[in-house]
Amino acid sequence: TRYVYRFGGGVSDGGNGDRNLLGGKGANLDGMAGIGLPVPPGFTISTAMCTRYYDEGGAFPQSLLAEVASGIAHIEGITGKVFGDEADPLLVSVRSGARISMPGMMDTVLNLGLNDKTVEGLAATSGDARFAWDSYRRFIQMYSDVVLELDHGAFEEALEIAKEDRGFTLDTELSADDLRGLVKSYKALVEEEWGKPFPQDVHDQLWGAVGAVFGSWQADRAKVYRRLNDIPGNWGTAVNVQAMVFGNMGETSATGVAFTRDPSTGERAYYGEFLINAQGEDVVAGIRTPQYLTLAARERAGAKAASMEEAMPETFAELARVFDLLETHYRDMQDIEFTVQQGKLWMLQTRSGKRTAKAALKIAVDMANEGLITRQEAILRVDPAALDQLLHPTLDPKAVRDVIAKGLPASPGAASGQVVFDADTAEKRKAAGDDVILVRVETSPEDIHGMHAAKGILTARGGMTSHAAVVARGMGRPCVSGVGTLAIDAKNKIFRVGTREVREGDIVTLDGSTGEVMIGAVDTVQPELAGDFGVLMEWADQVRRLKVRTNAETPLDCRTARQFGAEGIGLCRTEHMFFDASRITAVRQMILAEDEAGRRLALDKLLPEQRADFTEIFAIMAGLPVTIRLLDPPLHEFLPHEESEFAEVAAATGIDVDKLKRRAAELHEFNPMLGHRGCRLGVTYPEIYEMQARAIFEAAVAVANKTGEAVIPEVMVPLVATKRELDLMKAVIDAAATAVFAETGTTLEYLVGTMIELPRAALRAGDIAESAEFFSFGTNDLTQTALGVSRDDAARFLGTYVEQGIYAKDPFVSLDVEGVGELIEIAAERGRKTRAALKLGICGEHGGDPASIAFCEKTGLDYVSASPYRVPIARLAAAQAAL
Ligand code: PEP
Ligand code: MG
Repeated sequence: TRYVYRFGGGVSDGGNGDRNLLGGKGANLDGMAGIGLPVPPGFTISTAMCTRYYDEGGAFPQSLLAEVASGIAHIEGITGKVFGDEADPLLVSVRSGARISMPGMMDTVLNLGLNDKTVEGLAATSGDARFAWDSYRRFIQMYSDVVLELDHGAFEEALEIAKEDRGFTLDTELSADDLRGLVKSYKALVEEEWGKPFPQDVHDQLWGAVGAVFGSWQADRAKVYRRLNDIPGNWGTAVNVQAMVFGNMGETSATGVAFTRDPSTGERAYYGEFLINAQGEDVVAGIRTPQYLTLAARERAGAKAASMEEAMPETFAELARVFDLLETHYRDMQDIEFTVQQGKLWMLQTRSGKRTAKAALKIAVDMANEGLITRQEAILRVDPAALDQLLHPTLDPKAVRDVIAKGLPASPGAASGQVVFDADTAEKRKAAGDDVILVRVETSPEDIHGMHAAKGILTARGGMTSHAAVVARGMGRPCVSGVGTLAIDAKNKIFRVGTREVREGDIVTLDGSTGEVMIGAVDTVQPELAGDFGVLMEWADQVRRLKVRTNAETPLDCRTARQFGAEGIGLCRTEHMFFDASRITAVRQMILAEDEAGRRLALDKLLPEQRADFTEIFAIMAGLPVTIRLLDPPLHEFLPHEESEFAEVAAATGIDVDKLKRRAAELHEFNPMLGHRGCRLGVTYPEIYEMQARAIFEAAVAVANKTGEAVIPEVMVPLVATKRELDLMKAVIDAAATAVFAETGTTLEYLVGTMIELPRAALRAGDIAESAEFFSFGTNDLTQTALGVSRDDAARFLGTYVEQGIYAKDPFVSLDVEGVGELIEIAAERGRKTRAALKLGICGEHGGDPASIAFCEKTGLDYVSASPYRVPIARLAAAQAAL
């Protein structure tokens, strides 16, 4: 097998880039080389090597030596420099690159190939001794950190001391001789800490770095990132070895990062930052404040430092040409790293750029309109889950704001929460149920878990392409970065802006769209659903087959869902209506009643209330089907707990408190989820379902007569295991309908159906379908009962289960397609065999999960039902599933 693939100088061994084999970075370097862009020559060691390296306990096969040697020879041939040559040394970078980019997760070594001899050669050929020694000291520092894993604080300290000795504040003030002295200190440090001298053999350096990159694949931070992003551990990373180019060779050199479109808004404008006379890491690390790429961006920001367009007009023009070529070639917005070495432009990297949901939408719609991609591709380009970012409230422009600082609008959206200063605290507080804002000087990959736990991220340093900004956008967390006025004292858990002080636990609000930082919580407003969002949704609606309904029972939720495009209600949980403060006493009276007569008294009070609920819902959803589920939960959930609550019920019923308490104790269940709930309530107390059915039909008739619009009730019986249960309940429902239609003289079409949420029901679907006109899969309970895992207690151990790979994802979030999915397939097939027109839907939480929706499409269900804010997500996911 071949493991090394060369690129550059007219060569692209990878044939335009297989990212699974070459990793994303390697594939794109190969791709850029293939279309003739200026890429420094290099080679990629494939991901297959990484996998083999781990399989063989961290060793390289003999054959790799020759392959790497030929890779180096390729670079030497093009550059005319020789690796390890004292007169004209070739220097290389060694970088990781997995299939999909894991920003900042993996290791990089630059300037590799420098030693005590070659540094002199570099000084001579570049004519710049200072540059050569600075490169060498950077190399020792990076190599010691990444490969030798020595404490990098000691190196920083040595650098600080060197500056202090000379009375300097900036690194750039150090002379060649100063840096030569610093290299000496660094080497002494290495020998002291590592016990061996810094490796002088350039081949030892190279193999050390290659091993470190492969090793970094199993580093803790990489594992965390993979877990958060569902990246399999067996993908491995590739290693890219590439000739160095230098952005720090004087004023005609520069380095930068850019996006071909604005990654925050999606606007079609080159977007980026660069630094003159700097190395790539300087831009990302946020140490110097970068300059804008374009004149327009500089003017908009009111910045003084010249943009690249102004400072290097010719190189900028070439860069712009490359941007356009890259977009045409990759047909997507690109995130680019480039270096200008003494006026010559070099492309170091390109990849599909991470973007906010807003930008993703705009870019997809714009590119389809520009003819760069098809509408179908546009639909597939937007991650449905990311829409969530757009559907949530933003800061109310009219709200009072106590703005204390302004930074860069690094990732849009608004967030309020308690200030915390480290990632671990963020995680702990989140687990305790608090909303937190993570405040850091700058973030590093070690902070990932805290960024994930936080509602928002605030940093004192770093630009729009800093680690914090990139990661926050990827995660959909609002982020304000580079707030220069922020003085953070992490040790004492306090930050100051001018005279204002904010301590850990204080509430702040961030607006990631404007960069504002505010004290206290700020009011929010609902999002705008027109524009690009509306366009993409329309395209999605044209291709999807699955209908999308909503799970809703309050008028607000129903209205929201309709606005979001819900095509009906798939689940109206009536028990939620029973919790209402004005009714709970009557509900309790019903539960605690000793006989049917007692229950009927209470039910008479509830009937008009339920009728009013349904009337409102039918009116809002007029013209669309509304599935109403009869009472489901265990009765004890409604029981009084407090003395005062018992007293209230006693007053309302005339039954004394002691007796009520005794009755409440009798209702106690050891396993209420498998207890007296669902249709078991209806079987034992049919008068409850009778009241609900009556309320439904009275409301339906009233709304139909008043509005003249179609009212389409679908009455649903929960937790059915047998056909007989459904038959008994259907008789109650039909009788109520007949009675109401006779009383009112109005007849309506309606359906009676059942939830399928028990394995027995799934298996017996064939005979249940004789009575049911529809099935709605209640996958919350079906998952609970099929897996034998309590939905209320699962959180304690499911995390470990997912980590151990027992279930790929939390089965209560994403459907266990293999197990629960098979039950659904069986039920769908058997049900339809009995009744071809059987309507099939899903109303568990999975109805809003894109992967589960793909399963529903494959299984041929008619609709999914999701909570209101997930309706657009479901519409898009359903469209993607259909393509
Ligand atoms: C279900 O079990 O999937 C369902 C929708 O019902 P509930 O969550 O109310 O039990
Ligand atoms: Mg259920």
